[in-house]
Amino acid sequence: MTKRVLVVEDNPANMKLATLLLEQAGYQVLQAGNAIDGIALAKTQRPDLILMDIQLPGMDGLEATRRLKADDGLKASKVVALTAFAMKGDEERMRAAGCDAYIAKPIQYKEFLAEVAKLLAGAGEGSDGGGPKEDPGGG
Ligand code: MN
Repeated sequence: MTKRVLVVEDNPANMKLATLLLEQAGYQVLQAGNAIDGIALAKTQRPDLILMDIQLPGMDGLEATRRLKADDGLKASKVVALTAFAMKGDEERMRAAGCDAYIAKPIQYKEFLAEVAKLLAGAGEGSDGGGPKEDPGGG
């Protein structure tokens, strides 16, 4: 089955590049130019992977990721942050928001596709037996 990737990115050049690379690699690409549209698309389309730009107009990518991760219907969708300024503190913030990984911009196409493939390989193929079971009595 064709894997679906949602790209949430407000920069047209980055959107174009990411879409081109993903489509050439055989993925189906969904596009959103801001967080609100991205969240709406994610909820209706349930993509396998979401590439989330951090700097977006209005709601930023971190808040969007928090909202996506709070949605039970999107537990299987992985979120990858796209950011131009990936320093140590930023990575912690992205992880804290629920991002599964991050990719630094500008996009380096080999690394970009390798990271996407790696994350998709781990998605939807059953657990490795040690799945994330810890749920400390949350509500
Ligand atoms: Mn941006």
